[in-house]
Amino acid sequence: MSLIVHKYGGTSMGSTERIKNVAKRVAKWHAAGRRMVVVPSAMAGETNRLIGLAREIQEQPDARELDMIAATGEQVSVGLLAMALKSLGVDAVSYAGWQVPVRTDAAYTKARIESIDASRVNADLAAGRVVIVTGFQGVDPEGNITTLGRGGSDTSAVAMAAALGADECLIYTDVDGVYTTDPRIVPEACRLEKVTVEEMLEMASLGSKVLQIRAVEFAGKYKVRTRVLSSLTSPDIPLDEEAQSGTLITFEEDQSMEKAAISGIAFNRDEAKITVSRVPDRPGIAYQILGPVADANIDVDMIIQNASEAGMTDFSFTVHRNEYQKALAVLDARVKDAIQAGAITGDLKIAKVSVVGMGMRSHVGIASLMFRTLSEEGINIQMISTSEIKISVIIEDKYMELAVRALHKSFGLDHQDA
Ligand code: ASP
Ligand code: MG
Repeated sequence: MSLIVHKYGGTSMGSTERIKNVAKRVAKWHAAGRRMVVVPSAMAGETNRLIGLAREIQEQPDARELDMIAATGEQVSVGLLAMALKSLGVDAVSYAGWQVPVRTDAAYTKARIESIDASRVNADLAAGRVVIVTGFQGVDPEGNITTLGRGGSDTSAVAMAAALGADECLIYTDVDGVYTTDPRIVPEACRLEKVTVEEMLEMASLGSKVLQIRAVEFAGKYKVRTRVLSSLTSPDIPLDEEAQSGTLITFEEDQSMEKAAISGIAFNRDEAKITVSRVPDRPGIAYQILGPVADANIDVDMIIQNASEAGMTDFSFTVHRNEYQKALAVLDARVKDAIQAGAITGDLKIAKVSVVGMGMRSHVGIASLMFRTLSEEGINIQMISTSEIKISVIIEDKYMELAVRALHKSFGLDHQDA
């Protein structure tokens, strides 16, 4: 009898009406002979509300107490869902993270799952019960309640599926799968039938927010067959149809000939560019600039150093926007005079656009097609970075949507019928 984990996001759990629909869907899978574990999020908006309450008392909430508060949203969800299932005549039981237990480290508000004890859940499954476990939360070695960071229920579900050796983890959400790019920007974007873990990791880190990135890492590490699909379909649609819908996250590249070289276009406006001008071109200079930035715990993404002229060069890099001011302050205090640099300037009006695809490893000409497309649109490239399956460029932010649309088209990702 196969074992299936369902995860429902906040929107899917957004009202008691919707929770009743979730119960109907789960009951359908249960009636079809599946052993079922369900991991729901808090009802939509609830985690924000709880964190807001905490902030009304303490501007910088105490992390332990904040987790105590934030974790309650999921506890309400599991209880309501268990009741809804019982009302349908399905035997169900709900658990908080500590009751399973889902063991985490002690890093409040961003804890990592260390292990999950599957025995209690397995005993209930063996007794024919649907088991409902809170997403987002766990318990640390001292018995304190922890949470996994925003969006953490995805990770809870995939980790639970790994611990139980589930046949599949289905992530039900308010979109019907993973798209070639954001359909709000490119109406011609298509749903991908399959996407590899590596591609998902790149897309998630580049700004596509379908799944929490750690959930994808878990799926890859523990080989959990994971599918993203819509919770907005009728709960009564045939199970076979539902089981094939959405996007499957796979571990192997699709080798078929028709497969496009590129799977998706990702983008974000999360970064800012900093340029240190007129730095001497000599060994150690990159370290002298970026060492203090790293010491301040600031992540650097793209880096570019121009060819030097008369022994001087410009050095640019990007950081997350939230750390932009901090990075400028560090450079001012610890770098500028130390290396006798010229002006230090910043630019917030940038966007990062990336093409992602496993096919890049076996196709040539991806970079040149990308650059040709941007040049035909008159878009200037400020920085470039590449990995085995990704090429990213920094451009002026006002051209971001134009760039995404043009690239989507030139890489042949637009709908056939568009
Ligand atoms: N309720 C938590 C949040 O809003 C976890 C989740 O929904 O995945 O971040
Ligand atoms: Mg989510």
